[in-house]
Amino acid sequence: MRISKTKSELQAFIQNEKQKGKTIGLVPTMGALHEGHLSLLKYLRARCDILVCSIFINPTQFNDPEDLKHYPVTLDQDIEGLRTHHCDVLFLPSVDEMYPPGEQEWHIDLGDLETVWEGKHRPGHFQGVTQIVYKLFNLVKPDRACFGQKDFQQIKVIEKLIEIKNLPVTLDICPTQRDENGLALSSRNKFLSPSGEKKAAKIHEALQYIHKHIHTEHLGNLLKKGKEIIEDNTPLETEYLAICDIDTLKPVTQIHSSKKYIIVVAAWLEGIRLIDNLPLKNIKPATPLPVLGK
Ligand code: AMP
Repeated sequence: MRISKTKSELQAFIQNEKQKGKTIGLVPTMGALHEGHLSLLKYLRARCDILVCSIFINPTQFNDPEDLKHYPVTLDQDIEGLRTHHCDVLFLPSVDEMYPPGEQEWHIDLGDLETVWEGKHRPGHFQGVTQIVYKLFNLVKPDRACFGQKDFQQIKVIEKLIEIKNLPVTLDICPTQRDENGLALSSRNKFLSPSGEKKAAKIHEALQYIHKHIHTEHLGNLLKKGKEIIEDNTPLETEYLAICDIDTLKPVTQIHSSKKYIIVVAAWLEGIRLIDNLPLKNIKPATPLPVLGK
């Protein structure tokens, strides 16, 4: 596996491969790779000639400096995982490489996506995400790029970026990978205590409860019950829990059989912020989803 630390080196390699007619797949990450990240790599490995993974802890998407300071780094292990998954290129730039001095202010109009849920609770986060993803797309010029359904609002934001900038890339979405108790895998889970990790599974339990009873119980009562499942006898604190229209992410008070919905949640445990979601009907991915085996 090639490790490129500079944009120029990466671009020269990509350009050469493109000239040979090779297709390029990109998985952008912030490292501390787990099975969730690796599932995206597996998905694209089977669908492109050259597989590129970026590891870059992007400072502009952190609204909390402490979160940035403590973000986990497991580079040796990540490189091993990438090699095992037959990644061709690891792009591993420095902050200066991605944000040279004199950088122009970045802003794109993300509409309501920036004022609900993650947008509301992490001001500026999605501007930072779109800024770095745009840079990566411009550098790698991928034919397809793969993202996890776990960060569902992020997918909506990237769809919007692709639309606004008219980018020739196919967006692939892979399902959320979970631990044996149902907790969505996340790099930040490393900071949970073993008992915290078990308690955090209540988040998925609440999503499943709401999903199961959505057609038989009043939505307000369901959300109340969901919050109780998360918080009863645990130190978990719900930041938001809502049933939303899957396209607009606006909260709804009624369900119509012709429409699609998603339950979204964020909760805090042991100082760690955890997010998860569960669509009410399967989200139609850009291309058929893979069978994710080990
Ligand atoms: P991150 O390193 O957290 O920026 O995540 C990089 C990519 O991995 C994003 O597209 C995430 O949505 C995806 N991802 C993170 N956790 C999971 C998971 N548990 N299952 C599937 N994809 C995930």
